[in-house]
Amino acid sequence: MKTKDNVFSNSDITVTFDPCTCIHSDRCAKELSNVFQDSVIPWIDLDGETNEKIIRQIKKCPSGALQFYYNKNKEVA
Ligand code: SF4
Repeated sequence: MKTKDNVFSNSDITVTFDPCTCIHSDRCAKELSNVFQDSVIPWIDLDGETNEKIIRQIKKCPSGALQFYYNKNKEVA
């Protein structure tokens, strides 16, 4: 897995996190703690779950701070 500041990639998807938009609901960490780990750096581990589950969780982010795109498309989904 590759990581840059607030950008996390595996071979298929890239996840971006905007800390200014996050409202700290902790929903991601509570519901998918294998991936979103607020006490670890890097805090998003894309090896922790399937892409399908990660994407489903990102879509539940209430603020939109979490976004993703498929690497083959390079577009924010
Ligand atoms: S679910 Fe979204 S708003 Fe809530 S803590 Fe995670 S990134 Fe922030």
